[in-house]
Amino acid sequence: MASKGQSQPRGTTGVTFAARLGFEDIRHAFPNGQASLHGVTLTAEPGEVLCLLGPSGSGKTTLLRIAAGIEVQNSGRVLLNDREIAGPSVFVPPERRSIGLVFQDFALFPHLTILENVRFGLNALSGAEARREAATALARVGLEQYANAYPHLLSGGEQQRVALARALTPRPAVLLMDEPFSGLDSRLKDSVRAETLEILRRSRATAVVVTHDAEEAMRMGDRIALLKDGRLIQVGAARDLFERPDDLFVAGFFSELNVFEARALSGRVETPLGIFPAPFEDGQGVSVAVRLAGVEIAPTGEGVEGRVVSRRFLGDSEIIEAAVAGGEHPVRARVRCGALAAGIRDIRLSVRASDVLVFETAAQSA
Ligand code: ADP
Ligand code: MG
Repeated sequence: MASKGQSQPRGTTGVTFAARLGFEDIRHAFPNGQASLHGVTLTAEPGEVLCLLGPSGSGKTTLLRIAAGIEVQNSGRVLLNDREIAGPSVFVPPERRSIGLVFQDFALFPHLTILENVRFGLNALSGAEARREAATALARVGLEQYANAYPHLLSGGEQQRVALARALTPRPAVLLMDEPFSGLDSRLKDSVRAETLEILRRSRATAVVVTHDAEEAMRMGDRIALLKDGRLIQVGAARDLFERPDDLFVAGFFSELNVFEARALSGRVETPLGIFPAPFEDGQGVSVAVRLAGVEIAPTGEGVEGRVVSRRFLGDSEIIEAAVAGGEHPVRARVRCGALAAGIRDIRLSVRASDVLVFETAAQSA
């Protein structure tokens, strides 16, 4: 683990020795009694990008703040490389944790130049040395030409990179980022996200990135940890969570769904879109989730009958709502534009088996 005071190779600002960050049964409530975390156990492995995903209010920021040492848990332990840094008998102060934090709003100092902002994290070094380190860090994020400019002159994406350079300059073993792209407009987001990922890979720091956007988590995370109401719901690679969600909440976080409530009978369940396997006891209530992208326009004689009630043009695709026999609500399908000619009312719909997920109703956390 890199720490201040140890000798470091020069000219390698931001390169660090990745650490393992562990949370053990973390429980936390605010002084007003508002509970935020109900026993979270989670590990970010050395060098990985772990995305902490969840709806607003699920406890993501609180967990990051506990790791950084600016919030203290009521019970449980935080471990860095299996060494306790916060627990019943230990509290390592934030500045001695080798953990960097990038805030949601970048939090650059408006009255300091870009270089001075980056240098801010290096107050243990002499002036000239800190200046050199900060300049190297700025070059790593490709912004050396802005060294003497003030933050307001930079675009949102550039400010985000300055915040990243500032957080990486002291060579943290772990970097925490709280919704780092939420302030950027959607056209900028893709490129800033890709650049950030590249910088994280080069720095080799372990990173925990908070987001409420499942697609962002899939783009960035080696693994994703999904939180809801202060509880960890499922952890795994993007593909695991998408293809094998533990419950309807997880499924709904990763895809738009049609959901039908029904009962299993003879290992199957009947829905307005067809009959699907449901390996449960007879009478068990089940929720059948069908991804919008898995509902397709079928040729005559296949699938079920539907009547188009609305169409929403989305560019590459369109969302079609169709009334089907036995359905309480219209079924929604996301189809490629052009798949259905203009003006057509009567259609047939089929379903791709891999886009159907069947859950026991009682088992869901939703
Ligand atoms: P997230 O980052 O996932 O949106 P937070 O960690 O900010 O969630 O918040 C978790 C819960 O704690 C929410 O219910 C939120 O309203 C509550 N909360 C956050 N900050 C405070 C605070 N300072 N005082 C009281 N409750 C808070
Ligand atoms: Mg938050």
